[in-house]
Amino acid sequence: MKIICIGQNYRKHCEELNHKIPTEPVFFLKPDTALHRNNDPFYLPDFSDNLHYELELVVRINRVGKCIEERFAHRYYNEVGLGVDFTARDLQHKQSEAGLPWEVAKAFDHSAAISPEFFPIETIDDIQNLNFRCDLNGQPVQYGATSDMIFTIDRLISYVSQFVTLKIGDLLFTGTPAGVGALKIGDRLEGFLEDKRLIDIEIR
Ligand code: MG
Repeated sequence: MKIICIGQNYRKHCEELNHKIPTEPVFFLKPDTALHRNNDPFYLPDFSDNLHYELELVVRINRVGKCIEERFAHRYYNEVGLGVDFTARDLQHKQSEAGLPWEVAKAFDHSAAISPEFFPIETIDDIQNLNFRCDLNGQPVQYGATSDMIFTIDRLISYVSQFVTLKIGDLLFTGTPAGVGALKIGDRLEGFLEDKRLIDIEIR
């Protein structure tokens, strides 16, 4: 399986990182070795001095698909949960400034945390009308609303599948809202989808 991540999908997050608002989706991949499960503690890697959390809505792909039309895209995912796109922001800035790829900042081991629980899509009224929130040490730091996405989930699936075949079990991280920030040892990171706490990770 692979992990497909969308960058720059919320206007206020683009502003906080000084990115232009994209006219087409921006995506990158993380390998399966990036997966971090079961709300296990997250160990800050020693190669970064500015390791950020990015809470994101995640959907799980349940069909093989290539060049999927947007109107059929909803048939290609069947579960929704939350994830954290852990990012070495210092390395990302260094790579970006040099015009180099982001993998060292984004694809490292344990950089893609997913919630232990995912919900069947049938139990969700409207996936483009969900609220999610990230708390750091009990204080809200990110408020996400999927209605604020620049590109809808169906558009993302359609776009990505023009280039990369989607396979069963792949995960799509759909981008982070504003409010990203650095983590330190001892922090507690919690993620809520509506009123349900799905992410609860201790930073070590
Ligand atoms: Mg992200």
